[in-house]
Amino acid sequence: MRIERIEVRFVEAELDKPFGWSQRWTDVRSVIVLKVTTDDGIVGWGETYGSQDSVPGIATVAQIAVGEDPSHIGKIWHKLHRAVYQSHVFAKGGANAISALDTALYDITGKSSGKSAAELLGGRIHDSIPVYATGLYYVDNYALAPLLEEASGYVEQGFSGMKMKVGAMSLAEDAERIKKTREAIGGDVRLMFDANESYDPSTALTFANMVADHDLTWFEEPCASRDDQANKIVQERSPIPTSGGESLSTRWEFTSRLANRTFDIIQPDICGVGGPSEMHRVGLMSQAFGVKFNPHFWGTGISFAAALHSLAVQPIGQIGQTNIPYHNESVLEFDQTPHPIRENLTEPFFTQSDSRVVVPSTPGLGIEVDESVLERFTRGEVVVTDKPSAGQRVF
Ligand SMILES: [Mg+2]
Repeated sequence: MRIERIEVRFVEAELDKPFGWSQRWTDVRSVIVLKVTTDDGIVGWGETYGSQDSVPGIATVAQIAVGEDPSHIGKIWHKLHRAVYQSHVFAKGGANAISALDTALYDITGKSSGKSAAELLGGRIHDSIPVYATGLYYVDNYALAPLLEEASGYVEQGFSGMKMKVGAMSLAEDAERIKKTREAIGGDVRLMFDANESYDPSTALTFANMVADHDLTWFEEPCASRDDQANKIVQERSPIPTSGGESLSTRWEFTSRLANRTFDIIQPDICGVGGPSEMHRVGLMSQAFGVKFNPHFWGTGISFAAALHSLAVQPIGQIGQTNIPYHNESVLEFDQTPHPIRENLTEPFFTQSDSRVVVPSTPGLGIEVDESVLERFTRGEVVVTDKPSAGQRVF
């Protein structure tokens, strides 16, 4: 079996209502989708982040895999990585392409062998994964009432944790939003908050101390994600554990941050870290360093399924007789914000029960992709590559 054809496309959908976080507002949701087809007709799916302009670059990296045996997942991962390593795209664009292709290879290899991606990764340790609701963005010109209504809704749905945004308003106003949210959801539900890189260290520490009495589980991305000194200052002095790493790629970008405990919790994203292969490797590294591993998610059912499989094979952190979410069992972000593509693209449409999502057990990622949805939301040209790459390096 050989990889014969790779299609890369940008899909984007408009939202009925915009929402915002510390950096900006958005009125669209978008993603880049890879469709990989083998010479015997098996199709695998992958996805990553980027814009319409990213499509040709991602296709150029993915093309290096054309002609390869898709079950040689590790070999292909390192072949692509080698090709983008010394060209300054390693930090993001190259890793995004590798992430999407790696995801598709688990889908293909699983379908051809009758095994789920978790079985290919070594065998599932967990049949379901704890999740928390991500939402609670700024809406309606920063109004408080819809925030509290949304938070109460997650409690009613059975979520045991949720995460809200801070950083776009004054410290006093954002602290008040946290206080009111905690009052609305009661004391039995986990509450996290995310500044999306918007504070300097002293402001982050001032804010952490202002909200420390509200039983908060973590303070996400207090400072710029690659400003290790700033994040370390906050990690050392914050009364609330800190988290970060959603934009970091590959084991190399996590190594020093794990060794230095730049964050108490790392949050790699399967669409950027390097796919299920690298998510698994970084997860094992985090266990060895005693740093919690609670991955980020912001995509469609393709990457959510891939993240579930990756966490299914993640051992608990501190080993004991009991698995306890947030303590020694990883929790996965479960985006609940509007996303017309995610809401229509894949079967199953993942739902939680008791704040857990079942890991698919059918072959590959365990999802079906509705290609009519892809067609409907495709923007710009679909780049198709079906010839082996001539070069050993790209860009
Ligand atoms: Mg975040």
